[in-house]
Amino acid sequence: MEIKQSLEKFMKTHQGHHFLQIPGPSPVPERVLRAMNKQVIDHRGPEFSRLGKEVLEGCRTVFKTSDPVVIYPSSGTGAWEAAIVNTLSPGDKVVMVETGHFATLWRQMVARWGIDVDFVPGDWRRGADPATIEAKLAEDRARSIKAVMVVHNETSTGATSRIAEIRKAIDKVSHPALLMVDTISSLGSVDYRHEEWAVDVTVSCLQKGLMLPPGLGFNAISKKALAASKTNKMPRSYWDWQEMLKPNVNGFFPYTPATSLLYGLREALAMLIEEGLEAVFARHQRLGAAARAAVRGWGLEVHCLEPAEYSPVLTAVLMPPGHDADQFRKIVLDNYNMSLGAGLSKLAGRVFRIGHLGECNELTLVAALTGVEMGLSAAGVPHLAGGVGAAMEVLEGRGDANSWPPLKVAAG
Ligand code: PLP
Repeated sequence: MEIKQSLEKFMKTHQGHHFLQIPGPSPVPERVLRAMNKQVIDHRGPEFSRLGKEVLEGCRTVFKTSDPVVIYPSSGTGAWEAAIVNTLSPGDKVVMVETGHFATLWRQMVARWGIDVDFVPGDWRRGADPATIEAKLAEDRARSIKAVMVVHNETSTGATSRIAEIRKAIDKVSHPALLMVDTISSLGSVDYRHEEWAVDVTVSCLQKGLMLPPGLGFNAISKKALAASKTNKMPRSYWDWQEMLKPNVNGFFPYTPATSLLYGLREALAMLIEEGLEAVFARHQRLGAAARAAVRGWGLEVHCLEPAEYSPVLTAVLMPPGHDADQFRKIVLDNYNMSLGAGLSKLAGRVFRIGHLGECNELTLVAALTGVEMGLSAAGVPHLAGGVGAAMEVLEGRGDANSWPPLKVAAG
């Protein structure tokens, strides 16, 4: 009997498609998987040079910049470190904002490099406040603050900071601080403009909006950041921008590059450019609005409190008191073969996160939300029926028209 039950459970949980609905790594499209399934080539040869140039150019399109973008074999954390060691010196002062778990980790890293961090406290339920940053910089009459460092999309909370407004806040007080932005979970999914917003270092990586397996980290580098890198005092070798920039001109890398990931990146960039970046951003907005409609339909609470900062990439959902989010996620995984994102550090057990980024489309989202709704019932979490229906209304263009771009309806 026991064997029969566990066999039934095995059949139930392992049939069909696994729904990877965490906010990154996001599922890798078939097209990208196929593009990576190729023999490696001579990384000093002419074919590689073409690949390197094409990928570096495609990255500039997606970062929206004519500035150089460097690519490291690393996760996003490596790209954070590269941004720090190329621009700052021990003892420098920077301003960071406590938007959540990832902002807190970046702060720890900065502190380990001997940098003096003014960490603006936050409640982990909204993005970085431009007015607070403006006030901090206005107070700094000696102009000793060297950088403002913010996370664009805080993956632990589902709040997206308003980078264009932060830029304006810095300009309003004519402060020379560098602006450094972590776009690890926003690039390729959320509107982002490295050059127009005069960001000095944009940090990113592969495994979220770019729809690849983990393994490459990015720095997009403004002229001002490049100038800072010529005089800053932080020791570095592997991460040194200059080492990268020289061979990059001809599509090459100073060290053995991650060729297979670069094949995949070329394909993923082509997919984003074919769909059109604005269409990609609008799709994510629509999916985010639908996910939030579902949460409200269930009578649950979206963790982010600021509507202007709702993330198009993920929705963090607060569990009702007395219910454990990790237990709920386990029930969803066991019963419906779907992975939802865990609450991180101080949100552990209190929130679960629904990822809707990368290759996600309307039906993927509706299926994922259906799994959440069935999981809430299976876990005995009090909720209202009809969240999925509310999401469908939004996706059909019948829901709350204020929270997502209206769909185009075909004539006739
Ligand atoms: N920053 C943000 C916003 C993230 O979401 C993550 C990872 O999820 C990181 C930094 C760390 O990136 P990695 O785990 O690739 O080192």
